[in-house]
Amino acid sequence: MTPAPVPLCDIQAQYKALQPQIDAAVLRVLGTGQAILGPEVEAFEKEAAASTGAAFAVGCSSGTDALVLALHAVGVGPGDEVIVPPFTFFATASAVARLGAKPVFADIDPVTFNLDPSQVAARITDKTRAVIPVHLFGQCCDMGPIRRVAADNAVYVVEDAAQSQGAEYGGVQCGTLGEIAAFSFYPTKNLGAVGDAGMVTTNSPELAARLKALRVHGSEVKYFHKYLGYNMRLDALQAAVLRVKLPHVPGWLAAREAAAKRYDAMIEATQLHGFLRRPAARPDRRHVFNQYVVRVPAAHRDSLVQHLKDSKVGVEIYYPLSLHLQECFAYLGYRAGDFPAAEAATREVLALPMFPEITEAQQARVLDVVAGYLRGRLRTAA
Ligand SMILES: *Cc1c(COP(=O)(O)O)cnc(C)c1O
Repeated sequence: MTPAPVPLCDIQAQYKALQPQIDAAVLRVLGTGQAILGPEVEAFEKEAAASTGAAFAVGCSSGTDALVLALHAVGVGPGDEVIVPPFTFFATASAVARLGAKPVFADIDPVTFNLDPSQVAARITDKTRAVIPVHLFGQCCDMGPIRRVAADNAVYVVEDAAQSQGAEYGGVQCGTLGEIAAFSFYPTKNLGAVGDAGMVTTNSPELAARLKALRVHGSEVKYFHKYLGYNMRLDALQAAVLRVKLPHVPGWLAAREAAAKRYDAMIEATQLHGFLRRPAARPDRRHVFNQYVVRVPAAHRDSLVQHLKDSKVGVEIYYPLSLHLQECFAYLGYRAGDFPAAEAATREVLALPMFPEITEAQQARVLDVVAGYLRGRLRTAA
């Protein structure tokens, strides 16, 4: 009997578990005829703000748009520099460039994959307007030193919390660790919508008011435009689904953490830890494992990925090419070798299946397939 496939992420599991409530919420919204913004979005914003501990949450059309709104709100524009990691999802840097500002890359800490605060300090100039700490894979950046260097240089801290809703640094949730934060509700994130959706959080009433105007063409009063804004609104349907799911996020995060602990223990018990380097959670942080990312020797990475795919085990490489080497950023003039830690990560990482509902048996299957790959390699070598 061939073992059942193990998906990288099973977004249908949440829908199946909450189907009656989600279906009812969708029908309720369809019955109101309110398609965009409105009471459903306002209710979600209140509930989401309360759950992150931020004073204000502003719903919007995606995590990418949340970054654009947040950067625009703090005044990023042409002539400005914004410090970002090169090892992140593309949108972190593209949002900066789309506002006419210059993404300035700073290398990562090879252990956590997050921005290295000393590298941030080294890249500050008199043009630096903001820094974007990306809380990658579910773990917060080292925010103490990042906030200090930002404060010393009057630089805004714009968190990219797209992968880390619920993650904590020093007991405080991301979303309030800087002046403003961007969240994504892309279906595979810790809180997923049924399409594109996002949110910006802040404790500043001025920034919140600007965000609310920017997402509706820069107007506070309809047809009167204070800013050159965008159409980046949140749909009522997405908000209604997000409201059903939001109370379940703490349970899902606990399940992700438990699954990560099981992987850790199983990798140790099967003697795979010399080959699969496990993710490192810093003691002052709560890692919520949006992804469980391991490192393997670069010479093995791509063949192991192929072996997992051939064995119907979900796997993904986040991310195969550092952003400073992307074709669209060639004009910035970076070269291979500029960011050794980020570049090494792009050659060594792979993400194993991770979602709240993953079972111990599924995880055992994943590691069986990895062990099978190693046995095959030893045979070929012998
Ligand atoms: C998903 C993601 C985004 C973008 O979110 P979308 O909702 O897909 O636009 C931005 N930054 C990071 C780190 C992400 O993982």
